[in-house]
Amino acid sequence: MWRFYCPSCGVEYPEEKYLPFCEKCGGGLEVKGELPGRKKILGEGDTPTVTDRYRGFEVNFKLEYLNPSGSFKDRGCSYALYMAKEIGYKASVVDSSGNTGLSTALYSSRLGMESYVVVPKYASESKKSLIKKVGGNLIETETREGAYERAVELSSKYYYVAHQTNPFFLYGMMSIGVELSDLAEGRDIIIPVSSGSLLLGLYRGLLEADSKNFRIIGVQAVERAALKDYVKVFGVVGGETSKYADALLVKNPRRLGEIASVLNEVGGGVVLVGDEAILNASEELHRMGFIVEPSSSVVWAAFKFLIEKDVARDSILVLTGSGLKYI
Ligand SMILES: [Zn+2]
Repeated sequence: MWRFYCPSCGVEYPEEKYLPFCEKCGGGLEVKGELPGRKKILGEGDTPTVTDRYRGFEVNFKLEYLNPSGSFKDRGCSYALYMAKEIGYKASVVDSSGNTGLSTALYSSRLGMESYVVVPKYASESKKSLIKKVGGNLIETETREGAYERAVELSSKYYYVAHQTNPFFLYGMMSIGVELSDLAEGRDIIIPVSSGSLLLGLYRGLLEADSKNFRIIGVQAVERAALKDYVKVFGVVGGETSKYADALLVKNPRRLGEIASVLNEVGGGVVLVGDEAILNASEELHRMGFIVEPSSSVVWAAFKFLIEKDVARDSILVLTGSGLKYI
């Protein structure tokens, strides 16, 4: 048996009732009690690691873009939708401009549920086309905010994935921390940070596996640097615009306080990356054999920047999303 509670305002919800976020304060929820274990649905997780050496450092690339829908979101979506089915929902809804939408559509179809994916009109055509191909019902709105509002309306009827605040999603994400726990020892783990679900899942998974001696460095798009006033900023690289980081758009992550305290606790911080560095890093990664999306290449730009600043260590770079969606 499990139930939700809100760590921000202290509200406790009745047993086994799903809510996408706290009804009182809108914040992220947590679970009390026992959840069913994480299960593989389409082979997500256990992604490969490729080890290179670069300018005297060991660098381990964790290939999250090889997950079934081409992004790390499959870890969270697979579990969130598995729980939706367990609870008895017949359909899901999500607002997303890309990776979460595709992952939601994919796992909903696989689990025999309908899905409604609300995207702003300007979302990439290839992602929209893929969402429809895997069986998602695509709903287009004028703006990103409009997509959110429509999804919240539909959440009265359907399971709203709400990946920023849904504790099932975070529980699914923890598997990456468990997988990296041995390798993490004494190393930096460099990851893109937008909504924070990767960072929080990674951190909680590492703790679950008893890892202690690691540092996490977040990378944010320079125009969406929600963390910059709350954690150590290692620096800015690559200019003042970040339009190519289209998967790193979240301005105000719902779990911002928790994200910042994790980075502070592990002695980490953020590197802010702009378009020039994103494009260079993307080009280099492709030639190294990693076909990743621009928003994922920020970790390579950040790692090289940390070397320049003389603060780099042996590292793990999480490559989050596939570049095949951008062709
Ligand atoms: Zn609350």
